[in-house]
Amino acid sequence: MNKILLSFDTDWAPDFVIKKITKILIKKKIKSTWFITHSSPEIDKMKKNTELFEIGLHPNFYPFSDHGNNEEEVLENIQKLCPEATSIRTHGLYHNTRLLTKITDMLPNIRTDVSLYLPQLKQIEFFDFYTPYMKKIRRIPCVWEDDMEFVNSKIWSLDKFKKNKGITILNFHPIHVFLNSSNYDNYNDIKNTYPNITEAPENFLKKFISKNEGSRTMFEKCVEYLKDNKSYKINEVT
Ligand SMILES: [Zn+2]
Repeated sequence: MNKILLSFDTDWAPDFVIKKITKILIKKKIKSTWFITHSSPEIDKMKKNTELFEIGLHPNFYPFSDHGNNEEEVLENIQKLCPEATSIRTHGLYHNTRLLTKITDMLPNIRTDVSLYLPQLKQIEFFDFYTPYMKKIRRIPCVWEDDMEFVNSKIWSLDKFKKNKGITILNFHPIHVFLNSSNYDNYNDIKNTYPNITEAPENFLKKFISKNEGSRTMFEKCVEYLKDNKSYKINEVT
């Protein structure tokens, strides 16, 4: 059996961008998992709707991170956003054995890591990773990510994934859904004016929406499929 799951990395998206997606998911009663980078009123609303939304953590370990100056600081601060979170996906898929060990030490509620991107997999299962101290973290890859398609195969259709077996996790970035991105051009133009994307106003962002196939058209296809099929949060399948 194949389960298709929607996940999102908030990546500091403005609240009106997040709301545009959550409104549709609530209307169609589709479950999803959101890896958060910050707190906001829309994220708070999702936290209260645990039936449809799972909140995971999306720590940024890269230089100039607003989560902290080293791995320990980043983990401490990201945990404060949602201490009850049980899943994690790192920003930019930053991961290594030492970091996984730190996560199991410092964030005991986290039981699933989704920081692997393995796009060719057709039969997808989770597996248990044991740290050198024999602590366990469950790992499950995602097989599609909107911004990876910008440079890779540009797949904006669900057909390929419907044939998978196991757990098919698709990953979207709200800002790319809003812009219907199929490359980085518009996003980079926006970042030139608003280096902090959270501050970009709606009327400004609207000017950069793409008309071709892209992240939003793929999201719409997922909604079309999942409204008639069972949907899941990651904490229900791992
Ligand atoms: Zn990210």
